Amino acid sequence: MTRMLIIGPPGSGKGTQAERISERLGVVAISTGDIFRANVKGETPLGIEAKKYMDAGDFVPDSVTNNMVRDRLSEEDVERGFLLDGYPRTTAQVEYLDQILAADDEKLDVVLQLTADDEELVARLLGRAKETGRSDDNEAVIRHRLDLYHEQTEAVVAKYAERGILTQVDGIGAIDEVTERVLKAIEARQTV
Ligand code: AMP
Repeated sequence: MTRMLIIGPPGSGKGTQAERISERLGVVAISTGDIFRANVKGETPLGIEAKKYMDAGDFVPDSVTNNMVRDRLSEEDVERGFLLDGYPRTTAQVEYLDQILAADDEKLDVVLQLTADDEELVARLLGRAKETGRSDDNEAVIRHRLDLYHEQTEAVVAKYAERGILTQVDGIGAIDEVTERVLKAIEARQTV
């Protein structure tokens, strides 16, 4: 049973790594970005609301995001643990997640941060924009998303560091190499 978070700047490969880690650990990967994108595609009310923010590279408001995460974490497949990807991104979301978990007498085991240099990330994301046509992958929006990461999400990372559950992994390198680093880092945590 593992309850963990993966945090990283846009373009750090956290979605790819989250899927691999979740497979290895046998826990479900939950990506708030993926849930939003599925809702945008399905033109649901949630998707229509979220799209305005996503296209500008802004955070979707907590009032929307927190409820969505609470509902997702109440589903049955989460009972064996989870790997949350892309949430929490603000300190207010950290507090909300604390409350969700505390209500069930649960807590996080490990928080994994993927690190990478901004210019490397911009280059990667511009490459991804060509391949996938994601509407939030143009340079101005990419830089705005990186700024938000530094301004808001690094404070989230600091909170988990204070709690002693943070582990950092260099996200630059081949996908397999990074997966190996991540799995080693998680194993090291779990035997401590
Ligand atoms: P991602 O795929 O994780 O990069 O997320 C894509 C976009 O979804 C972000 O740029 C935000 O607009 C939105 N989003 C995802 N997770 C969150 C969150 N925890 N809080 C607010 N907005 C989010």
